Amino acid sequence: MLGTLAVLVATGIGQTPPSPLSELGAQYGFQVEVPTSTVSWQGQGYTVRGEPAPQDALDKYAQLFAKEWKLYPVSFVKKTKVSKITFCISLSLNNQFRAAVPSYDADRMFYDTAAGAYNSNYQRNVVHHEYFHMVDQREKRLYTDPEWAALNPPDFKYGSGGAQMRTSGAGSLTDKIPGFLTLYGTSGVEEDKAELFAHMIVDGEFVANRAKVDPVLEKKIQMLKKRLSEFDSSMGDTFWKNIPGWKPADDKLSIFGSAKFSKN
Ligand SMILES: [Zn+2]
Repeated sequence: MLGTLAVLVATGIGQTPPSPLSELGAQYGFQVEVPTSTVSWQGQGYTVRGEPAPQDALDKYAQLFAKEWKLYPVSFVKKTKVSKITFCISLSLNNQFRAAVPSYDADRMFYDTAAGAYNSNYQRNVVHHEYFHMVDQREKRLYTDPEWAALNPPDFKYGSGGAQMRTSGAGSLTDKIPGFLTLYGTSGVEEDKAELFAHMIVDGEFVANRAKVDPVLEKKIQMLKKRLSEFDSSMGDTFWKNIPGWKPADDKLSIFGSAKFSKN
């Protein structure tokens, strides 16, 4: 029996995923893994662990996740080379609990179905934030991005990365930090970009309104949009016009910013 279980874990065969997830996997071309015992992945210099998700948490999360993921065009996701997504609970990276983990060298994402389950807005942000790290890594500028960092005021310095910033409330939206949406975004250039991308999707109206009075934020939005559409043309206007806050009618300022940006 033990031997059988080990084989099941090793080959990534778990329980049958809820239909929203298996349909998503078929549509986007990735394997959906729902482990039935401890899942552990040893990457290059890091360890990811997770436990099986209870069925009710999994079913609830599956609906939320599928709705968010379906915002992405298939061609975009294929370019990011995600071949497997694992859904579990008690997810950790090097023994630090995480709501999600992008595993770049394994072409794989892990999502915790229970983390922040009392707050669907938080869970929606996590879907996009962590996936953006994968996009950014594929573009080879995850941690080293002088072009992006140069958008900040000259005296600004990022912190020492997201793992070091576990301050309560660091992920809350604020209008108190010029150029940033959250305190967490100041912890590292990689977190700045991921926070912006996620909140542009989940809290688009808040972000668009802030950008009207924050030129640094506006420049970051334009750079992010430009990079995404260059990475895959499906991530241009056709993507953003479906996201509240970025529909053409309420996006006059962004069109302005875009024209300004293209001259540089
Ligand atoms: Zn992050």
